[in-house]
Amino acid sequence: MLAVAPGSMVLAGGTDAMVEVNAGHRRPVGVVAVNRVAELRSWTYDVAAATVRIGAAVTYAELMEPPLAALLPALAEASRTVGSPQIRHAGTLGGNLGTCSPAGDGLPVLAALDAVVHLASTRGERSLPVADFMVGVKRTACAADELITAITVPVLDGWQGYSKVGVRNAMVIALATACVAVDAPGRNIRLAIGSVGPTIIRCAEAEAFAAEQVDFTTRTASADVVARFGEVAAAASQPIDDHRATAAYRRHAVGVLAGRLLRRAFPHE
Ligand SMILES: Cc1cc2nc3c(=O)[nH]c(=O)nc-3n(C[C@H](O)[C@H](O)[C@H](O)COP(=O)(O)OP(=O)(O)OC[C@H]3O[C@@H](n4cnc5c(N)ncnc54)[C@H](O)[C@@H]3O)c2cc1C
Repeated sequence: MLAVAPGSMVLAGGTDAMVEVNAGHRRPVGVVAVNRVAELRSWTYDVAAATVRIGAAVTYAELMEPPLAALLPALAEASRTVGSPQIRHAGTLGGNLGTCSPAGDGLPVLAALDAVVHLASTRGERSLPVADFMVGVKRTACAADELITAITVPVLDGWQGYSKVGVRNAMVIALATACVAVDAPGRNIRLAIGSVGPTIIRCAEAEAFAAEQVDFTTRTASADVVARFGEVAAAASQPIDDHRATAAYRRHAVGVLAGRLLRRAFPHE
């Protein structure tokens, strides 16, 4: 239908799509509802490859509970912060990617974990690193005739966590978000930040700094290292002033979040 009726809209949980339709921003010529497609609603764990392949229509309610939560704890943590119980039962990871808001809570986690997005159309299938999939503010590399079928997420051995700041603790569009994921055997630390730029930003400089400065064996990081990590993360952000917050506040907040997450990952001084 996406191929033969251009202008059709994929509908998963509808928690973004119906808002756009109701506001008159979108007038789809047809609707392709995917939330009862079993393949899109299921997930598989490949133990040998240490990856989880999550169907695009898997909901936050499923991501935030075991067994998925044990495999991908930061994604579970991010999922728990999304909207309300109703939104978490309807909203999907594929929909979060489809909308690609800089404030999308699933996206910093996918970026930090180097997830891969799988797309399909009548023209064939392709897979893209999530960093290439997210192009800009609500802009993705997904063509109009393509369906997001699944997301492959590596299972890392190491601490990982997600944090966000908003004006309340629930039902809020984040002003700044951050995900830190430690790959302990690989001796690397990933940091992705959101709501502080046109799309999710991976902070290569902060990552390299932390990997050099922390002690992976004793899980030790000095207070100076934690503080500097936050400063370097803040410097990588590209926030703007808008009606929700000033750029200065967002930059400060994202530095605080990054530092706190590094401290949780490396709790000893
Ligand atoms: C009250 C409320 C609170 C919210 N709170 C949060 C929050 O805290 N954090 C957060 O990140 N988001 C929040 N959202 C936004 C929304 O819930 C999420 O972005 C959610 O992940 C969207 O998923 P969905 O399944 O509902 O997508 P839909 O609304 O069905 O689709 C969203 C977009 O993605 C496209 N799409 C969906 N599935 C596919 C697919 N398989 N292939 C190709 N394109 C697809 C659709 O065409 C549409 O453009 C909130 C929304 C509401 C209404």
